[in-house]
Amino acid sequence: MPFRAIRVTKDEQGQQHAGIETVDESALADGNVTVSVEYSTVNYKDGLAIGGGHIVKSFPLTPGIDFAGTVDASDHPDFAPGDRVVLNGWGFGEKYDGGFAQKARVDGDLLVRLPQGLTTREAAAIGTAGYTAMLSVLALEDAGVTKDSGEVLVTGAAGGVGSVAITLLARQGHHVIASTGRQSEADYLRGLGAAEIIDRAELSSPGKPLARERWAAAVDSVGSHTLVNVLAATRYGGTVTSCGLAQGMDLPGTVAPFILRGVTLAGIDSVHAPMERRIRAYERLAEELDAAKLAEMVTVIGLDSVVEVAGKILEGQVRGRTIVDVN
Ligand code: NDP
Repeated sequence: MPFRAIRVTKDEQGQQHAGIETVDESALADGNVTVSVEYSTVNYKDGLAIGGGHIVKSFPLTPGIDFAGTVDASDHPDFAPGDRVVLNGWGFGEKYDGGFAQKARVDGDLLVRLPQGLTTREAAAIGTAGYTAMLSVLALEDAGVTKDSGEVLVTGAAGGVGSVAITLLARQGHHVIASTGRQSEADYLRGLGAAEIIDRAELSSPGKPLARERWAAAVDSVGSHTLVNVLAATRYGGTVTSCGLAQGMDLPGTVAPFILRGVTLAGIDSVHAPMERRIRAYERLAEELDAAKLAEMVTVIGLDSVVEVAGKILEGQVRGRTIVDVN
C-alpha cells in the first residue's frame, strides 16, 4: 500500500527541497518491525533538516526524528501487532527515514514500548524535546539537586525542551526561573509552573567569568554566551545541564565556575541514550507529566504544514510542542 511522506531531496545544484510524496511500501527501510505512524513532532533539529542545515546525510530521505504509533507487523520477539511504541533519535530523520510518514520500518531494538496510561498522542506531545527535558531533570537528580537546593533556571523557556522542563521541575516543587525572549509568553510560562520570568537578554551577551550566585541548578537548551553566563551565576556546587544550541554551538567562557565554585556541567544526549535511560525517562514522564499542562503546550498540524512550521521553529517562533497528525 502506498503511503504519504515528506521527502527531502537534493538537486543537481546541491539545493535541498522538501515536499510531500506518495511512497510505495516496498521503499521502506530494512528492519524487523513495521509501524503505522500516528504522530510525529516538529523539533528544532527537524527545522534544520528541512531547512538545509546539514542534518540530512542521505537523499532522498524522510525527515522526522521521532514518531509514535502502533506496530503493524513484527519479526522481533519483544513486539507484536497492536503494540504502541515510540521512537526517538538513533539517526532517524537524519541518516534513516524518520517519522514524517504514515509508515516506518525500524529495528525493534530501538523502539520503546509506551508505558501504561500514555497514549500515542501524549507520547508525541512529549516528543524528543520532552524526553530530552526529562533526561535533563534525571541528570539534575543524579547530581543531588533537590527542591531544597534552591532556584532552578530553565533557558529557552517557551520552546519545547524548556516548556516540558518547567512543568516537570515545578511539579517536583522546585522554584523555577524561566528565561525567555518572548515576554508575551509570560502567562503561558506561569501557567506551566514558572515562579519567576527573566529576559533572555540578561544572559545572551558576553559577561564576566563569575557573576553573583543566582541559581542552584539550570536546564539549558541555548548554549553559547547564555550557557556561559548561566554557569557564571550558578551557586557553589550547583549543576547545569546542556542539551541545545538555539543561540549557538560555541561555549565562549572560562573554567572559573568549575574550579572556583565546583559547578558541574552535565551533557545531555537524547539521540544515542542507552535503552535503560530511555525507559526510565518515559516511565517518569508517564507518572509525572500533568496531562492538562501537556495539552496546553501542544499545537497539532498535518503533514501539509510541516515544511512551514519547520521554518518557524528555526526563527524561534514556535511555542511549546508541535505534533504532526500524519494521517
Ligand atoms: P525550540 O525551538 O522549541 O526552543 C528553543 C528556544 O530557545 C526558543 O523557543 C527560544 O525560547 C530560545 N531561543 C531561540 N533562539 C535563541 C537565541 N538566538 N538566543 C537565545 N535563545 C534562543 O527547540 P527545542 O526545544 O526543540 O530544542 C531546543 C534545543 O535543544 C535545540 O538546539 C535542539 O537542537 C536541542 N536539542 C537537543 C537534544 C539532544 O539530544 N541533545 C534533543 C532535543 C533538542 P524563548 O523564546 O523562550 O527565548
